Amino acid sequence: DPVILWFRQDLRLSDQAALEQAASEGPVIPVYILDDATPKQWKMGSAQRWWLHHSLRSLDDSLRRKGSRLILRRGKSVEALQRLSRETGAKRVHALAHYEPWWRNAEKAVARDLDLQLHGGMLLLPPGSVRTSGGKPYQIYTPFARAAMQHMPPPVVSPAPAEIASPHKWPKSESLDDWGLLPSKPDWAAHFSDDWSPGEAGARQNVASFMDEADEYDTARNLPSIEGTSRLSPHLHFGEVSPAYVWHRIGDAATDATTFLKELLWRDYAHTQIWAFPAYGSQNARAGFDRMPWRDLREAGSDLAAWKQGQTGYPIVDAGMRQLWTTGWMHNRVRMIAASFLIKHLLIDWRHGAQWFWDTLVDASYANNSVNWQWVAGSGVDANLFSRIMAPLTQSPKFEAADYIRRWVPELVHLDDKAIHDPDAFEARPRSYPPKRVGHREARERALAAYRRSRA
Ligand code: FAD
Repeated sequence: DPVILWFRQDLRLSDQAALEQAASEGPVIPVYILDDATPKQWKMGSAQRWWLHHSLRSLDDSLRRKGSRLILRRGKSVEALQRLSRETGAKRVHALAHYEPWWRNAEKAVARDLDLQLHGGMLLLPPGSVRTSGGKPYQIYTPFARAAMQHMPPPVVSPAPAEIASPHKWPKSESLDDWGLLPSKPDWAAHFSDDWSPGEAGARQNVASFMDEADEYDTARNLPSIEGTSRLSPHLHFGEVSPAYVWHRIGDAATDATTFLKELLWRDYAHTQIWAFPAYGSQNARAGFDRMPWRDLREAGSDLAAWKQGQTGYPIVDAGMRQLWTTGWMHNRVRMIAASFLIKHLLIDWRHGAQWFWDTLVDASYANNSVNWQWVAGSGVDANLFSRIMAPLTQSPKFEAADYIRRWVPELVHLDDKAIHDPDAFEARPRSYPPKRVGHREARERALAAYRRSRA
């Protein structure tokens, strides 16, 4: 009998343990199921769907080069797999284990009827494999990373199987173009392909070009005006490269890649958190934050809209939000500033911001997005103090964001390196650029007062 290979966020042929095992057993039926039902509110956002379209096309091409192909189905994963099993006689399903709560539930449901074999490879280390001396998963990043480092480097990566045998008859596949994953009108993703090449080949190219720059990462990574980071996040999110592959390539290329490798471990850390606390995306990890008096959207709705549109009057925030809209990605330093601005300056519940990121980021990941938003908010298990309020107008010159602002906020292109961070203060604000939604000092006091009230 053939075996089913169930692809999800692991759209690659190399270092793909499920594929490797499936291919060693006999004919393989690779399937991707577009499942908007199982994740409920966490169904894939719009920017991710753009990425998915191109990544699936690329995966199908790669499979065809090996004499195989990708079967596309829609619907609830459990039911789609059962149907495929009935149609083909395949009883066994190989897949990489996923850690989002809805995928863990789906895996349990699939395993009731079919022989589901789960493999590792989404992360450097499966969640829970490093624990505190009390036997618990780590809640704090630093000791987590220290313990995880003891198990590094990860095992060497395995190449794609030389051959993937086909079943004697291929089951039916839906057509990718019928899925409507790409935006129609307006085509807000028109510029995405200037920046991105979804798929395994694009991912590897990205790794290769970053190898030359890895030595600069420590100093360059905080400067949004330059391309100082790897921009691997969407590729890692869709599993087009394994984290182990990235670890080895960058680790070998750089004189000292520690800082970068530790960022890669943040991804493992975030997945460990959602594994230990599945509601991380919708609930405060620190229950004390449930009493936080966030502003009601009936009053704050226009502030939220201005934030989404990059019209807050804070150039660094607006530059970030426009980069996000235009490219599906935002620099990490600016993600922190923009998130902090929404939460503290506008006093809007972090979940509204996380939701916008979910829809607009090509790398939107339940673990990384939720854990980072809660880190900024102060509501996470390991988090910044709420009372430490980031000052965007100080951050912006500190991280030399002038060119970044010029690129994304063209209204300010003519301002000099000083005025551009805070045009109002230099009486240099053009009429085309909005005044600040709220002053820094006023916002800071409002946020601190709200926080004190929540703790009273
Ligand atoms: P690099 O600096 O080159 O890092 C390499 C890889 O390490 C990244 O691709 C990513 O997989 C991982 N990584 C780096 N920083 C983090 C981090 N803080 N947390 C978890 N993993 C990390 N990252 C996502 O992948 N998806 C998200 O949805 C996401 N949402 C975020 C929301 C907020 C509010 C903040 C502050 C950060 C968020 N991040 C998210 C983390 C980080 O901003 C991105 O991973 C990073 O900017 C991606 O760019 P890069 O690949 O060039 O990163």
